[in-house]
Amino acid sequence: MFDEYDNNNIFARILRGEIPCKKVHEDEYTLAFEDINPQAPVHTLVIPKGRYISMKDFSATASDAEIAGLIRAVGKVAAMKGLKESGYRILANAGPNSHQEVPHLHIHVFGGQPLGPMLVKK
Ligand code: 5GP
Repeated sequence: MFDEYDNNNIFARILRGEIPCKKVHEDEYTLAFEDINPQAPVHTLVIPKGRYISMKDFSATASDAEIAGLIRAVGKVAAMKGLKESGYRILANAGPNSHQEVPHLHIHVFGGQPLGPMLVKK
């Protein structure tokens, strides 16, 4: 599953401007936009512009500048969305056990209400 980067995944198409998004932030390394199916009052996705499937390949092969750029963008987006004081949760799914659906690395930024326990226990 997701062994090779799929140039036609939905976030690649958003990056190419083929599919619209509600943009929150853009810089040299990242694009941030609102999730189409929000799970909290604030649910924004931050993605690298490079072709990375998940944290697995990003952590191993992205440049230091790309990694710093993504993390800085997450902090910036949280501040832009007014979450600095109330707090927020970030989440990045990677691979089958995580239930990752879109095979382009994305960091979810959730906030705007108490978010409850970290994981639902079985
Ligand atoms: P994952 O399960 O891969 O961690 O999360 C994928 C996320 O992408 C989901 O929260 C889903 O709602 C969001 N998503 C899927 N397709 C689109 C789309 O076309 N546009 C936007 N803005 N979000 C999308």
